[in-house]
Amino acid sequence: MKTLLKFFVICTALAAFLWHDTFYPESLRGARVLVTGASTGIGEQLAYHYARLGAQLIITARRESILQKVVDKCLELGAQQAWYISADMSQSADPERVVKYAVEKMEGLDYLVLNHIGSSPFQMWNQDAEHVRTLMQVNFLSYVQMTSAALPTLEKSGGTIIVVSSMLGKLATPFVAPYTATKFAVNGFFETLQHEFSMRKSNVSISIHILGLIDTDSAMEKIKGYINATAYPASEAAMHIIRAGTTRQNFSFYPWYIYFVCLFRDWFIYFRDICIQNSFTY
Ligand code: NAP
Repeated sequence: MKTLLKFFVICTALAAFLWHDTFYPESLRGARVLVTGASTGIGEQLAYHYARLGAQLIITARRESILQKVVDKCLELGAQQAWYISADMSQSADPERVVKYAVEKMEGLDYLVLNHIGSSPFQMWNQDAEHVRTLMQVNFLSYVQMTSAALPTLEKSGGTIIVVSSMLGKLATPFVAPYTATKFAVNGFFETLQHEFSMRKSNVSISIHILGLIDTDSAMEKIKGYINATAYPASEAAMHIIRAGTTRQNFSFYPWYIYFVCLFRDWFIYFRDICIQNSFTY
């Protein structure tokens, strides 16, 4: 009985600790934020939330006409300032160019939000090694390049690198081998940096966000006919990322149960894999 009571007290204390909210929206007023992949999906929603909170924004992606519309809306919503720079992250010079532009325009940087991904087909791997190489550049190496270029400025501001990642960077499922490979690389790289920054007491924080299925057009289009799963709203996912990033949490999971998926991932591997394979139509 005593043990049960202890367990209950510990669980309650843990829940209270996890749920305490230290997010002050005011802290983002005037913050200098660079959001990548902001023309659509979660990146676009991130830009709108930052704008409502009064941040200064630079957004980037490839399609200029769409970026211009997002910038206009950001200004309407209350962004202190907003600009865009179009860039293709498959080009090795573009990640640094974007950071340089952002730092010059905003005279520094507080939040580097790494969110963009290149397009990748939802299908069994077709032995296209070149596609994996390109996707590695877009989804992973460009994140590394931007981090490297932004670090000196982030160290001056005590800033944060917000990394938008996926459950598929923690757990392999069919039809997404190139994408999953890039997300495992992202998680491995930035989790290692978290250790190193902590060991050398860096004032820069890295906040990694592990997302489940989100209802962006690109994700919905891809999984159509393959899997019937609940998708969560992009706007809510974006707000969740901003809260966790602003409060400098090392990790966040959205929706909440993704945490448990990651926690129990390797407990019953045989049954897990049967469940995963049977949930896809093939
Ligand atoms: P999305 O709607 O497909 O948006 C991708 C963004 O990246 C767009 O703004 C796109 O704009 C840009 N982009 C694509 N190729 C690019 C390139 N070569 N260079 C520069 N920018 C490029 O993606 P999303 O679904 O919002 O996903 C956003 C993040 O959430 C990703 O990191 C993803 O891994 C993560 N996530 C999403 C889900 C989900 O279910 N949606 C689940 C887990 C994690 P342009 O085409 O104009 O360049």
